[in-house]
Amino acid sequence: MGSDSKHIITALQRLAMFWRANQWHVAKELALNPTQCEVLTRVAAKSERAVDLADALGISQASLSDSVAALDRKGLVRRRRDPDDGRARMIEATRAGTSLTERMPEAPVAIQEAIAGLAEDDRAGLLRCLALIIRSLQEAEAIPVQQMCFTCRHFCPHVHADPARPHHCVFVDAAFGDGGLRLDCPDHETATEEEAHLQPGALGCRGGSRAPG
Ligand code: SF4
Repeated sequence: MGSDSKHIITALQRLAMFWRANQWHVAKELALNPTQCEVLTRVAAKSERAVDLADALGISQASLSDSVAALDRKGLVRRRRDPDDGRARMIEATRAGTSLTERMPEAPVAIQEAIAGLAEDDRAGLLRCLALIIRSLQEAEAIPVQQMCFTCRHFCPHVHADPARPHHCVFVDAAFGDGGLRLDCPDHETATEEEAHLQPGALGCRGGSRAPG
């Protein structure tokens, strides 16, 4: 591994340590643990099937059951039958659970301020690099699949001449730049092997029949 790669890994470790410590601090204030906070945040945004929730969070069904049971005892979530599959259970936040998530910061304030202080181009470049790392981890099956542009059939990278907005989303029929890359898009549809190109970040319709005119 090159020294620049080592420096990047050290930087990521520092950020991860800071983030984890902050998660424990926030969770403790709310009498929860970090996993319970993640479960609650997710189901407060949208109720989800238990099996999908465990996959999305990268935790086992047993661990999810423990967290849901603890949240249920506190009156923060409830389980109900999935109308589309009688054997499956949906997890949803109660009103108390939803209101508790409003007290959870989206991210540590210090990180938010540090990111906001970056130049726009640096933020876009950072997002692109992080998205590529996440995509590699997904392909190695090291992390759960995210609904990101790089794996979406609607993503057309580098099809426009404008260097500020070179990519195109077919779904919304709009051009966008690296700063607009999505990591958790509800409109995402996974590209098939045929739609995906070999080079990292070049998926979807580049050069194909779905390229925007
Ligand atoms: S639908 Fe969402 S994930 Fe897909 S290209 Fe458009 S913005 Fe990206």
